[in-house]
Amino acid sequence: MSSEAFHTVGGELHVEDVPLAAIAARHGTPCYVYSRAALTDAYREFDQAFADMPHLVCYAMKANPALAILDLFARLGSGFDIVSGGELARVIAAGGDPRRVVFSGVGKSDDEMEAALRAGILCFNVESESELAHLGAVATRLGLRAPVSFRVNPDVDPRTHPYIATGLKESKFGVAFEAAPRLYREASTMPAIDVRGIDMHIGSQITELAPYREAVAKLLALVDALAADGIALSHVDVGGGLGVRYRDETPVAIADYAAAIRALMTGRRERLLLEPGRRLVANAGVLIARVRVLKRSGARNFAVVDAAMNDLIRPSLYDAWHSVQPVRASSGDALAYDIVGPVCESGDFLALDRRLPLAEGDLVAIGSAGAYAMSMSSNYNARPRAAEVLVDGRDVHLIRRRESYADLIAHESRLP
Ligand SMILES: *Cc1c(COP(=O)(O)O)cnc(C)c1O
Repeated sequence: MSSEAFHTVGGELHVEDVPLAAIAARHGTPCYVYSRAALTDAYREFDQAFADMPHLVCYAMKANPALAILDLFARLGSGFDIVSGGELARVIAAGGDPRRVVFSGVGKSDDEMEAALRAGILCFNVESESELAHLGAVATRLGLRAPVSFRVNPDVDPRTHPYIATGLKESKFGVAFEAAPRLYREASTMPAIDVRGIDMHIGSQITELAPYREAVAKLLALVDALAADGIALSHVDVGGGLGVRYRDETPVAIADYAAAIRALMTGRRERLLLEPGRRLVANAGVLIARVRVLKRSGARNFAVVDAAMNDLIRPSLYDAWHSVQPVRASSGDALAYDIVGPVCESGDFLALDRRLPLAEGDLVAIGSAGAYAMSMSSNYNARPRAAEVLVDGRDVHLIRRRESYADLIAHESRLP
């Protein structure tokens, strides 16, 4: 897997057949650019690795919920892992099939449960006993049955950033491994609950296979214990979390991931569900920004660009590293720059200490910006959200126009 969506032609960065400078000239900056080919290749590689097993890929859309991307994945046959009623509405608006939707999340509201039940989703990934009771009551009221998995916490350390480790005992997510048998027994006595499967999601940006092997093996042992207790499950959802290369990580090859799961699933009848997010989109996107100001303060050189932490918060939030490259040859001198935004926070940086030739007015491309980038953006400092385009060969589709100042205040009122 190549680690970036762009490549150099004649000294200029391109996404597919389109120079990034042409996109900036047409659509302005900051602008997110996605490659249809890279998205398609990532989905197909993932899906095809499991071709010999009954399976469904449920794209974890919080990584990037752009309608055009959901539309593309839906056309490729993808299901979706959602974490809110808003995400369900987006799936439906994008032409996705609610019957291929699994609903995760620790705090689903009764209204969200109702909308998902009415839409006929594939499964609720239930994360607490309280949620089970609420779901049972909502389904009873509607005269429907709720398909259910428990998200079980296998207490495996994914060895990733603490903010994105989700499968440890102390985590707010899922139900404790030891509590699962009792909850399954309880659920199986509830008339409005249809016990279907089991689920886990141990963390994100995981770059080793061992945590998956350990967690899936634990999950399957639990499935067998439940079967011995008369509770037969029809699917096993192994979650997402597979990491990508941002800098110099060695991500797990999809084929190796599939082989490890295949080895554990051999001879079993349950359908496999998978919830990849980042792996399908991170390296299919770049963020282009323009250098506004170069300045020196004390010992540091700053390049103030027009993208900021409100556009891409991962560096500020997780200390995440994203590549930064000039879009074309620069007339400036190469210095070690902190690439920062105009937001009034010292934590507003996109990259630190990068040796780059830069001049004011230059364009830079920030790599691996397809996942948890636009989806975590905000209007902080009253900054309109960036435009998003999707490149398909020579074609550039504007998939989200840049917000206007009118958009910023559209939902607000002055006092009467
Ligand atoms: C976020 C999330 C995923 C996807 O995680 P990635 O690291 O993007 O693959 C999958 N399942 C659940 C429940 C999630 O919350």
